[in-house]
Amino acid sequence: MLVIKSIASLRKTLQKIRQRKKRIGFVPTMGALHEGHLSLIRVCRRENDLTLLSIFINPTQFGPHEDFNKYPRAFKKDSSLAKKEGVDIIFHPSVDEMYSRNHLTFVETRGITDILCGRFRPGHFRGVTTVVSKLLNIVEPDSMYLGQKDAQQVAVLKKMISDLNFSVAVKICPTVREKNGLAMSSRNQYLTPKQREEASILYRTLKTAKTKILQGEKNISSLLKSMHQQITEHSSLKVEYIECVHPQTFERIHSIKGRVMLALAGRLDKTRLIDNIVLNIK
Ligand code: AMP
Repeated sequence: MLVIKSIASLRKTLQKIRQRKKRIGFVPTMGALHEGHLSLIRVCRRENDLTLLSIFINPTQFGPHEDFNKYPRAFKKDSSLAKKEGVDIIFHPSVDEMYSRNHLTFVETRGITDILCGRFRPGHFRGVTTVVSKLLNIVEPDSMYLGQKDAQQVAVLKKMISDLNFSVAVKICPTVREKNGLAMSSRNQYLTPKQREEASILYRTLKTAKTKILQGEKNISSLLKSMHQQITEHSSLKVEYIECVHPQTFERIHSIKGRVMLALAGRLDKTRLIDNIVLNIK
């Protein structure tokens, strides 16, 4: 496994690989790898000749009062996990390598970024679309692997890729969860054992809502209200949003039919947690 830190040497290495007509699969991450990340790597390995993992904590996607400085950094452990999983190349650039001092260009997708997480994290998706554009230009992969856990990120990046004509196939992998249903996340490291249990309320609430829908619930506002109630009665989670949206456009939907996404976000103390499920209702 190669660890490459410079854009120039990554480009040089990949050029040779591309000349040999090898399929390049790309898994972008911010590190502190867990089973969610590893599941992406496994699918990527199955579908490509070469698996490239990027580990880069991207400062432009963090707000001024967010956790950029304390975000978990565990490169040694990450690289040994990556090696075990058969990753071929880790791209691990510094912030200076990715953003020169006078970096003035940003990529922004409108509309879809103003709602849900975007409403609570202004500028976040602009940072994500900017860094992913840069990474796609550097790596030029055949396929990129993303997790359904970050559903809005998936929708935003798919829109950006289509609008800007990037030639990469986007593959979405299902959310990997802890035994208690909590979606795995590098930020779960901030939680105490008690909070980890408490945090399982997100998925439990999504599952209760799913049952209600399957039993014929049609009224979205009373469904969302009951979800809010379930969370506040059983946890100290401060809800940011609970929404029922179309999984691609992220527009609010007014009748439960076809593909429906239930998405929610909240804070346990200072830790921000998100989750979602997608249903297909006949
Ligand atoms: P991150 O390091 O948090 O930026 O995540 C890197 C990639 O891993 C993103 O595409 C995430 O959606 C994906 N990912 C994170 N957590 C999970 C999870 N629990 N299950 C599946 N994919 C995940």
